[in-house]
Amino acid sequence: MTLPSPPPAPLKLALDAVALRNNWRWLAQQSGAASCGAAVKADGYGLGAVEVVQQLKKVGCRDFFVATWAEAIEVREHVGDAGLAVLHGVREADMAAAKALPGVRPVLNTPAEIQRWRDAGGGPCDVMIDTGMNRLGIDPNGISAGLFEGLEIDTVMSHLACADEEHPLNGVQAMIFGSLARKAKGKRLSLANSAGILLGEKFHYNLTRPGLSIYGGSPRLESEGYIHQVVRPRAQILQRRTIRGGEAVGYGASYSADRTREAAVLNIGYADGYMRGFSNSGYALADDGTALPVMGRVSMDLLVVDVSDRPSLGEGDWVEIAFDLSQATIVSGLSQYELLTSLGGRFDREWI
Ligand SMILES: *Cc1c(COP(=O)(O)O)cnc(C)c1O
Repeated sequence: MTLPSPPPAPLKLALDAVALRNNWRWLAQQSGAASCGAAVKADGYGLGAVEVVQQLKKVGCRDFFVATWAEAIEVREHVGDAGLAVLHGVREADMAAAKALPGVRPVLNTPAEIQRWRDAGGGPCDVMIDTGMNRLGIDPNGISAGLFEGLEIDTVMSHLACADEEHPLNGVQAMIFGSLARKAKGKRLSLANSAGILLGEKFHYNLTRPGLSIYGGSPRLESEGYIHQVVRPRAQILQRRTIRGGEAVGYGASYSADRTREAAVLNIGYADGYMRGFSNSGYALADDGTALPVMGRVSMDLLVVDVSDRPSLGEGDWVEIAFDLSQATIVSGLSQYELLTSLGGRFDREWI
């Protein structure tokens, strides 16, 4: 007996390829004379890294960043002759994969990694210097004479801790980077993520590395109105029901109807990345844009919304879930990054 192929999922992510490409183009423009790359780690921030790479290559993106070698393997052939760098460096356990992917650059973060890469015969690589975030990267105090000797360094980079705020650390990091980066003698320097691009020219150097804003996130006010929504979750109505005045909805009975109301039960929940922070505060959208407020707590696989104003919506119909990142972050209390990267595996992802 052969198993049936799975039916279409009752939830979809509509992914706007035009918005994605235009967001990247705007970031490339804002990057001035610097080239603009793309962070496609975490499966393209939850959208699907392979499709994101394919879309961005069409508009001229020549530098891609992933976190791990497993992610590099997944996108390698689609990156083609563009550059691909692995941000988390190269552990001993990664060396076999690294050798099998010539040209893919590890971002070397520690003296031990530098040694490992050099001992293995090297090849093009990047170097990350920590300039005050104290996350990954070479400690500037640990840069001894000869540390970088014999390396074929493409890009020397650092990462900003507070680029989405007005914070004195931004200027401090740029200053430290400017004074240290040249010691490593890379071909290119790179400091800015999405928010860093908006801090202005002195943060751009030769290459920028946006992620969030390509996918529709606005980390600073400067990008509001220029960065457009890419991800639109849609869920199917499984049941329509009447809630009488005084009755409750969902776990914890946290919603209580003030009068008779009509509810739609949608096939989406926190296991899909629609988190409990949207309980009693998020909303879905009818086709004409009418807001359909969330009633009660978000369940693992289900969500109840108020459709009292939409008598025509019923079982089998689809509604959009409001997911503009700037608004959804306020409504849910989750960061724009968490909202994107939590989107689960049960959606049918459809590029439009
Ligand atoms: C994730 C990441 C980026 C992209 O950052 P966004 O804030 O998403 O634009 C750039 N550089 C490094 C080192 C990263 O880890």
